[in-house]
Amino acid sequence: MNGQIIPTRNLIWTAGVKPATIEGMEDAISDRGRIKVNEYNQVLSYSNIYAIGDVAEMVTDQFPKGYPMLAPVAVQQGQQLGKNFIRKAKDSSMQPFKYLDKGTMATIGRNRAVADIGQLHLKGFFAWLAWMFVHLMTLVGYRNKAVVLVNWIYNYFTYDKALRLIIKRGNNKEEYYQETADME
Ligand SMILES: Cc1cc2nc3c(=O)[nH]c(=O)nc-3n(C[C@H](O)[C@H](O)[C@H](O)COP(=O)(O)OP(=O)(O)OC[C@H]3O[C@@H](n4cnc5c(N)ncnc54)[C@H](O)[C@@H]3O)c2cc1C
Repeated sequence: MNGQIIPTRNLIWTAGVKPATIEGMEDAISDRGRIKVNEYNQVLSYSNIYAIGDVAEMVTDQFPKGYPMLAPVAVQQGQQLGKNFIRKAKDSSMQPFKYLDKGTMATIGRNRAVADIGQLHLKGFFAWLAWMFVHLMTLVGYRNKAVVLVNWIYNYFTYDKALRLIIKRGNNKEEYYQETADME
């Protein structure tokens, strides 16, 4: 970061996700910044605090760095913890969390995706359709599903992709526009 301005119309930006730390719980925070939990999602050293999802680091033999920061892990941990609270209320013992990997999907743009579902490996258009179907079905509520579907259809036909990045242009707005115009 030396203040140099590079005029461009395309910006490719990548970033990792870091959990927000909670003050006063430093002893339970791992090197990676996640909150260390046991197999019941109970925060280490605390009997009445629980953490689930991205923020929780539950180490297993298969996942020595904790479960991957994925939506299904968060959903399944939430469901399991809910059941465990009910068990606790009934004075039953809690059940340890076990992750059920239903497969992995990723889209890499228009009409293109990859999907590994058990022995099934899809790529290209059908994987993209599968990706959209799964994402739509996992949204909560018909209203959300309908809004997202309409947005996708609109974007597909208009090629209209909103920039999901907040940038501060600063004071030299005119200079920026002039430089990008000169590039054409
Ligand atoms: C760009 C991107 C793409 C992704 N794509 C996929 C994908 O294709 N498939 C997949 O499985 N996973 C994907 N993930 C990961 C997935 O989004 C997360 O694993 C999942 O959302 C974790 O759920 P969570 O409930 O643990 O956390 P979150 O969904 O992050 O929810 C945490 C909530 O807590 C709120 N919060 C934070 N700090 C505070 C505070 N101090 N006080 C009050 N509220 C607070 C946040 O605002 C947020 O709403 C993606 C993540 C990113 C960033």
